[in-house]
Amino acid sequence: MKFENSRAFARQLDQQDPLKKYRQRFFIPQVNGKESIYFCGNSLGLQPQSTQQYVEEELKSWRELGVEGHFQGKNPWFHYHKLFKKGLAEVVGAKEEEVVAMNNLTSNIHFLMVSFYSPNNQRFKIITEEGNFPSDQYALESQVKFHGFDPEKAIIELKPRTGEHKLRTEDILEAVQKHADELALVFMSGVQYYSGQFFNLKTITQAAHKVGAYAGFDLAHAVGNVPLALHDWEVDFAAWCTYKYLNSGPGSVGGAFVHQKHANRPELPRFAGWWGYDEEKRFQMEKGFIPMQGADGWQLSNCNVLPMAAHKAALEIFQEVGMKALRDKSLMLTAFLDFLIEELNKRTDLFEVLTPSNPKERGCQLSLSAREKGKELFDQLTESGVIADWREPNVIRVAPTPLYNSFEEVYDFVEILEKSYSLLIKTMEKPEEHEK
Ligand SMILES: *Cc1c(COP(=O)(O)O)cnc(C)c1O
Repeated sequence: MKFENSRAFARQLDQQDPLKKYRQRFFIPQVNGKESIYFCGNSLGLQPQSTQQYVEEELKSWRELGVEGHFQGKNPWFHYHKLFKKGLAEVVGAKEEEVVAMNNLTSNIHFLMVSFYSPNNQRFKIITEEGNFPSDQYALESQVKFHGFDPEKAIIELKPRTGEHKLRTEDILEAVQKHADELALVFMSGVQYYSGQFFNLKTITQAAHKVGAYAGFDLAHAVGNVPLALHDWEVDFAAWCTYKYLNSGPGSVGGAFVHQKHANRPELPRFAGWWGYDEEKRFQMEKGFIPMQGADGWQLSNCNVLPMAAHKAALEIFQEVGMKALRDKSLMLTAFLDFLIEELNKRTDLFEVLTPSNPKERGCQLSLSAREKGKELFDQLTESGVIADWREPNVIRVAPTPLYNSFEEVYDFVEILEKSYSLLIKTMEKPEEHEK
């Protein structure tokens, strides 16, 4: 599609947008009495209008039924986790038995690594990307130490080539080959939180399997953002949070995927709890752990129903829209932003875009690295009602999400950027020459 740099054009795109009406299904935060430009769905997705009612339903069951709510009421809590199977399976491209809503993201990484990282003196290495999210780094480091290995030797961090911002798939494959005999696990992001790069999960998984290693992914920034086919790609395991693109509320329940081929492997080590125990016999409370078939067998505790009610409200919107329609709009929305930033750069040379320019290698987020005045610009944006995300030393991350953002907001955002920049230039006594 050929884009034009005008508000009229942005409005025209909005008019043609089949998902336009979904914005009204969310609460848009206000800044200075006006709707903000909320480009922070990669950090905390917005609240659906339906959330309150869903949470209220469970409060009502609790109020009126007490403990009987486990088996009575509209959505008995005993089976509450099952309400997410269909929706999650659609969003991550899985069979229903492969997914479960449980715990939180980092906890799920740990519990899944118990099963899929059992190092020995021959195979103990983990390949990951450099600059992974801190929680993931700590999880990997502490798992390695827990098994008595040295993180310095066991964790192989891959970085982009000098002068590049994306990690090339060929370089990942080469590293897998290089460490083939010692590699236990490849554990990477689906979409990298800092750069916004969407890795080639299928190819990476195949490469890991070829050398006898497992492949697992942190999908925090991928789930509800990019198309996934975890089952077909034969990914061994994955975990995600639901409060970013999935709009399920701060700290809400996490999610986990375990491939069908591992569904019935009682020999896999795992840290067990009663909610992973065979549901038919759970209340016999007997000794000896018998897991549920599939991902459910990794559950530990009974459902945290109140945050899960918020998850339910949000996930139903995804089921209604479908990932295909969502991705179609997302590709347009982010391409439009990319185009306008490029136009802005022609006049100001303000940003380097760290996110891959190939739409197949990114989700909705663009990471804009400011060549100068990054923090000042960001503060100006905030004052003008843009809610985005700042990362030291000079990166503004913006994520126009297809469910509730519009093309006109993208246009407004770049216009505000340009105005803020002009203002900054004017207020500086002597504009510095900046280097290319
Ligand atoms: C958001 C995010 C987390 C957060 O982990 P929690 O356990 O939900 O607090 C972890 N890893 C990545 C890659 C993230 O983007």
